Amino acid sequence: MKMFGTNGIRGVANGYLCSELALKVGKAIATVLGPGPVAMARDTRVSSPMVSAALSAGLMSMGVDVVDLGMVPTPALQYYVRTHSDVSGGVMVTASHNPPEFNGIKCISADGTECSPEEEAAIEDAYDGDLACTCWDRIGTIRHHDDAGEEYIDAVVSKVDVDAIRSAGLRVCLDCANGAAVSTTPLLLRRLGVRTITINGNPDGFFPGHDSEPTEENLDDLKRMVRELDVDLGIAHDGDADRCVFVTGGGNYVPGDQSLALLGSLMVRANGGGLVVTTVATSSLVEDVVTSAGGTVAYTAVGSPVVARRMMEDSGLFGGEENGGLIFSDHQFCRDGAMAVARMLEAVVRYGPLEDQVSALPRYHTVKGAVMCTDEVKGVITDLIAARHPDLRMNRLDGLRIDYDDGWVLLRPSGTELKYRIYSESRDREVAERRAAEFRAEFEEIASGFGGS
Ligand code: MG
Repeated sequence: MKMFGTNGIRGVANGYLCSELALKVGKAIATVLGPGPVAMARDTRVSSPMVSAALSAGLMSMGVDVVDLGMVPTPALQYYVRTHSDVSGGVMVTASHNPPEFNGIKCISADGTECSPEEEAAIEDAYDGDLACTCWDRIGTIRHHDDAGEEYIDAVVSKVDVDAIRSAGLRVCLDCANGAAVSTTPLLLRRLGVRTITINGNPDGFFPGHDSEPTEENLDDLKRMVRELDVDLGIAHDGDADRCVFVTGGGNYVPGDQSLALLGSLMVRANGGGLVVTTVATSSLVEDVVTSAGGTVAYTAVGSPVVARRMMEDSGLFGGEENGGLIFSDHQFCRDGAMAVARMLEAVVRYGPLEDQVSALPRYHTVKGAVMCTDEVKGVITDLIAARHPDLRMNRLDGLRIDYDDGWVLLRPSGTELKYRIYSESRDREVAERRAAEFRAEFEEIASGFGGS
């Protein structure tokens, strides 16, 4: 049975994602990530203790020991798995930025990276197979380990110039979104000597402050506080704190493309060059800034595991996506919310206020739209559009990306929804809008030949 999507197994708690499913998934995971101990962690969702307990029971029933790290961010679990050789994998219970009724299961390989599609398929196969429990005297044990958050923060702190950050006397507003960041980011900021005013800083699986996706609309309180309290910057995480976004001292939301560009530049300048990996959906701003800092850029399909794998293969220095998921290869090959915070503080100390850094960036205009489309025709329509434009520069890394001298268009079938996304970027707003409209019209004309989109 196909269970894993682009972000692990997701569903409404006690709906699709019920305790029976979690128990059986735990047994299936045991056959792939066992027989060594498996580390288990969870976010603050109401259903997370239930899902975690059912998964743990499944693992133990198969003879696998469980190390329960409690409520910590996904990157803290990933760091623990990579740095504890007695553990052969990890399981994170989180639905990241989804609404509170959802939950999810994400599996981590022994090296701390997200399980590959092959490992996920093996778990699905095991789920469909014979999952005979071990005999009573081989049932696994469970032990609790309360220091994973602190170990993760210690490692983050060890990577940055603590003295420089401490002596800058920075003040920030932090929005933990009532999620897993509450267990780590306040501690990080304390260690770095940053005076912090925290909102939504208590763990609460109902997400009373705002939805746990750190979009601009959800961060009105943070933006206002940053402005009114006149602090240096605002910091916000998603529900499992693998992602991080920023607000300038003037209270302006910084889109993920911009923080990706600024931190890419910081990393490249600090290392005298290097490869930055991002996806075909990221603004050309990143390439402009990284190349002028002396680095190079490589593109992949959308999805942080794809970016992380490319970084591992090609010795990438830094990578990420425009949604605030940032990966630092000198720490670990996964999205790393706390590391992003530490490095942004370093960037502010080294290169001045975030507001000024953002205003110095090149300007691009991006139009992001989507049309409804059934899964069966998505690939055919992409092929037909590509065939109509033999003279254009294009790549098929993910859907179809067409590059122009002043911008690009990305035509990308959604992997999870009945949608076909059409993005267009240019230095000139009118050009971006015109190209988006032209390709949308072309899409609709072709789709009508299949009986509508
Ligand atoms: Mg997340």
